[in-house]
Amino acid sequence: MGTGSPLEARVRARLDEWRDAGLLRTLQAPAGVDLSSNDYLSLSRDPRVIERMAEAAVRDGCGSTGSRLLRGQRDAFSALEARFARFKGTERSLYFSSGYLANIAVMTAMTERGDVIFSDERNHASLIDGIRLSSAARVVFPHNDAVALERLLHQTPCGGHRVIVVESLFSMDGDLAPLGEYAALCRSTGATLVVDEAHAVGIYGPRGSGLVEAAGVDADVCLTVNTAGKALGVAGAFVNGPAWAIDYLIQHARPFVFSTAPPPALAAAIEASLDIVADEPARRECLAARVRLLRTKLTTAGIIDAGGTSQIIPVVLGDNDRAVAVARTLQADGFDVRAIRPPSVPDGSARLRISVNAGLSEAIVERFADALVNAVREVGVCSAGSS
Ligand code: PMP
Repeated sequence: MGTGSPLEARVRARLDEWRDAGLLRTLQAPAGVDLSSNDYLSLSRDPRVIERMAEAAVRDGCGSTGSRLLRGQRDAFSALEARFARFKGTERSLYFSSGYLANIAVMTAMTERGDVIFSDERNHASLIDGIRLSSAARVVFPHNDAVALERLLHQTPCGGHRVIVVESLFSMDGDLAPLGEYAALCRSTGATLVVDEAHAVGIYGPRGSGLVEAAGVDADVCLTVNTAGKALGVAGAFVNGPAWAIDYLIQHARPFVFSTAPPPALAAAIEASLDIVADEPARRECLAARVRLLRTKLTTAGIIDAGGTSQIIPVVLGDNDRAVAVARTLQADGFDVRAIRPPSVPDGSARLRISVNAGLSEAIVERFADALVNAVREVGVCSAGSS
């Protein structure tokens, strides 16, 4: 399509609209102290993980050269899946090249026309896109509201199966789903529970397998999606569940069937991360301590509301430009903090998404808290509704 085409004009107009609304994003490499990544356990640069991946790359090559159902299958993937199934306490596990694709796979493959998917209004884009691509009907329920969900479950006609899908730890709000209440609803209504553990796996529960373990609802959850690119510091995602569901996904999940398998060396890297999660619970405890320190300081300063507990700390500033301005001030102070704007969050709720990792020292967390409080006060806004 040549220069000056109607398509180009439309695209340029959209870019201008986003620029005028303060919504134009830029690609910005990491710089400064990490307070924005999902590398919660600081495993992405752990020498043991790097070494295992490097050894495996030398031994097994770079690309997998085909889909798992063709020449992309490796024993290393199957061994890793067996281990990840034990880690999550499920019958089986299936490794996908990303959490985005794993969510598309679960939503599209496990549902059919006539089914109804009940989806939390704050669910991640990958779940939303999966639901849109599925043949099921969608009912969106208010965030973390089990009472509203119960009403909708009773009100909504459904000739097929009912599936409830939520994140266990919400990626942009940092709050936890009431998994115990959803589990009870599933028991009383026969609905199926699917939980995205992207931000919880590796961190929560006595063994670090996630919030499903921490909440003791394993028996009521059908499938979980567990990303390996966040706390585990590598890439890809596991879908965990009973054998019948995983067997079905292998046959029927298009993102699994029609995509090249991940580089085999990733399996070795994830094995190393899982070793560290098993052997070093102190890492999770260190993360929790840094989170408590930062949350206490920000709560005392009135920057966030009390009550939140997770490593994801949103500081809601509302206005897009204001959020970007505070992020820039902190970046100039040496802290890598990013502004999150719509459509990643609802309109009018632009925010800083602070994420804490286990590699931060107490002194840095203290220094950062002071810098954040000053930067937020400079723009004259205190967050409301942050958790
Ligand atoms: N689910 C949630 C809740 C997420 O936050 C993300 C990534 N931001 C994903 C799924 C997608 O995972 P991945 O990055 O591995 O594609």
